[in-house]
Amino acid sequence: MEKDLKQLEDELNVKLYITEEGCELLNNVQLKITRERVAIRDEKEILIPGCNIYFVKNKTIDAFVTKLDDEYYIFVNSGVIEEQKKYLEKLNWSFISNETQRTEWINDIIEYGFYFIVFHEYAHIFCGHVDACLDDPTDKKAQECEADMFAMEYLVKYIMNTQSEQEYILEMEKMFLAIYFQFENMQRERWQEWYNDKILENYYDPEKEAKRNHPLSAQRMLYLYEMLNIVVVTDKIELLPIKEKILEKIKVLKRIEGKEIPNRELEYGVAKESVQKLKESVKEIRKKIPRLSDVSE
Ligand SMILES: [Zn+2]
Repeated sequence: MEKDLKQLEDELNVKLYITEEGCELLNNVQLKITRERVAIRDEKEILIPGCNIYFVKNKTIDAFVTKLDDEYYIFVNSGVIEEQKKYLEKLNWSFISNETQRTEWINDIIEYGFYFIVFHEYAHIFCGHVDACLDDPTDKKAQECEADMFAMEYLVKYIMNTQSEQEYILEMEKMFLAIYFQFENMQRERWQEWYNDKILENYYDPEKEAKRNHPLSAQRMLYLYEMLNIVVVTDKIELLPIKEKILEKIKVLKRIEGKEIPNRELEYGVAKESVQKLKESVKEIRKKIPRLSDVSE
């Protein structure tokens, strides 16, 4: 049975944050999860778990998932909406002159970012991470990587199922910008990512790696960016030009358009290799944790 809210706050030591805008977002995301559950039930005759989702008052861009008396709970920090909005508003939106359209863009991006974070947490339930309780840092990083990919895969599928083909590119752009700027904003708060002259060590130094239980934001942006090779099949097979468009937008948004961007081939190579390793570890984690279903295989 669902706990009453006061009890929940006491037992988990959280302060729930209830607003009208928040309730609407929570309803929307619950509807999406329900649709997935119904689809999987109909297709595979498996009942995957649902979850309770709440906002908590906390400025950090983060969320967490937990299990209490056989029920799963996802808590999303209010910062994911409110702080992220402030962050996005400071970017250079000069490619949209109309104020209403600009607000719409920002709101869409916030919404995608919220869905991404919820589906990331939901992946920890769905993929069995919450129940497995592994605590080796390599396993934990692999779980994070798997959850990120699950969430983005879901959003790509969602866009392709709900939008017309003409809208795919635009919606994918918004979706990825949402994830990108969420990680960028998150990055500012995490001391592990305060880059200095030893930036490269973050990727390969075993001691530094062992201390982390999350992939670096830069790694997360990279492996998710790689997933944007989206192909549509009409009368021909076509790779959508999403990656190029996103890079163009990011340059404008960050005011680095036309500026010389240093060529960091060596750094990029090291980062890419580290991402490859992370992806390999996801395969390992899939063997280790019993799956609720085989849909993520
Ligand atoms: Zn996570």
